[in-house]
Amino acid sequence: MRKLGAAGLLLTMGAASAATQTVDCGRLLDVKAGIWREKVTVHIENGSVKAIEPTRGKGDVDLSAMSCMPGFIDMHVHLTSQTQPQVEALRGQMTLDAIDRAYDSVAFAERTLKAGFTTVRDLGANEGLNIAMKRAINTGAIVGPRMFTAGKSIATTGGHADPSNGQSRELRHLHGTPGPDEGVVNSPDEARQAVRARYQEGADVIKITATGGVLSQASSGMNSQFVEAELKALVATARDYGFKVAAHAHGAEGMKRALRAGVDSIEHGTFMDDEAIALFRKTGGWYVPTISAGRYVADKAKEANYYSPLVRPKAAAIGPQIQGTFARAYKAGVKIAFGTDAGVFPHGENAREFAYMVEAGMPALEAIRCATLSAASLLGQSSRLGSLEPGFAADIVAVAGDPLKDITLLQKVGFVMKEGVVYKQ
Ligand SMILES: [Zn+2]
Repeated sequence: MRKLGAAGLLLTMGAASAATQTVDCGRLLDVKAGIWREKVTVHIENGSVKAIEPTRGKGDVDLSAMSCMPGFIDMHVHLTSQTQPQVEALRGQMTLDAIDRAYDSVAFAERTLKAGFTTVRDLGANEGLNIAMKRAINTGAIVGPRMFTAGKSIATTGGHADPSNGQSRELRHLHGTPGPDEGVVNSPDEARQAVRARYQEGADVIKITATGGVLSQASSGMNSQFVEAELKALVATARDYGFKVAAHAHGAEGMKRALRAGVDSIEHGTFMDDEAIALFRKTGGWYVPTISAGRYVADKAKEANYYSPLVRPKAAAIGPQIQGTFARAYKAGVKIAFGTDAGVFPHGENAREFAYMVEAGMPALEAIRCATLSAASLLGQSSRLGSLEPGFAADIVAVAGDPLKDITLLQKVGFVMKEGVVYKQ
C-alpha cells in the first residue's frame, strides 16, 4: 500500500499534494522584507501555502536546521538540449531524431529541479520539444520544474534561430526553406504568422533573436536581424494573444530596436551602451544577463575543437563581456531578472549564476530577489510564484548555513519541494 509519506515522497511525482502538510524551517527568507523569519512552520494545502506561523511542536517535514527560501526561477534555459563538442553535435544531427533528444532531456529537467529551480522559462527548441516536455511535466509523466516555454524561437533567414544554419545548400533544398511555422520570418506578415503559430503549438511566451548569436553557424554574433516593422508586428501580435516577448540580443543596435518595439526582456544584452540603458529605464524592459553562459563559452573557446571555426571567435569575443555588462546595468538601475541560458552549459549548474552576480557587485539578497520576486514579475506570476506567503505555490528550497553570507551555498541545495511535493531531501 502506498503510504502518504509526510515528506510527500511517495505521492505521485508532479501531481500537487492533496494532503495538508507542515514544513518546519529553521529560518525562512522573506524575500519582500529582505529578512529571515526564525523558526517558522509553513502550512501547506493542495500544493499552496496556507499560512506561515511560529513553529509549535513538530511538523511533517523537519528543516529546523536549514535556511528555507522560495523555489528559484531561471528565466532563460533550453531544457531540451545541452552543450557538446562540435563533432558530437554534428554526428547527432546526422544520426539522431527528435525523440532521441527528448529522451536525453528527461534527465536535464530532473537535474534542474533538484538544483532548486522549481520554475523555468524555456526560450527555444526545435520541433516542439520544449512544449512536449512541459506537457509531460504537467501530467506527472516526468519530473521537472514548472515550465513556461517559447516553443520555437523566431528569427529571420540566416538569423540566430534559423534551424537551417550551417547546412549545405543541398540539404537546405532537400528539407525546404524554413518558414513562419519553423520560426523563420522575413516580413511583418510572416512575423504575425509566426507568433500565431506559437499560439497554436501551445507556447507561453514569444522569443525572438534580435541580433546574431554565439552558437549559431553564422559569422556575426552582433548584427541586427529584424527591421523595426517586423519587430512592431511581432510585439503587437504577441499582445493580442497575451504573450510577453523575450529578445535575444548582443549588439546594441538590435537591442535598441527591440526595446523601442516594446519587448519585455533583453536576453544577454552584451554590448549594451548608455543609450540602451536609457531605453531600458524608459520602457521598463527587463534585463536577463546569463553570465553563466558567457563564462562557459569563453572557457570552451580556449579549447581547439570544441566549437566550429565560425563559432569559436564569437565565443571568445562575446562570452567574457557579459559579467561586466551585468555590473554596469545593475549600477545603472536596470531591472534584472535571473537567467542563465542553461543548456549552453550543463543543466543543473544554474545556481552558479548567483555567485557570478555577487562577484560582479550585487548583494546576495538582491541576487536571490532576481531569481524569485523579479523573475515572477517578468513571468506575470507575481501573485503565485517568487515568494512564500498564503496563496502562493508551495515551492520551497533549503540549504544548510546562511546563503546571504556565502552565496555559493545555493549550489548545494539540500531540499526541494514543488507545489507541495518533495523531490529532494
Ligand atoms: Zn538561449
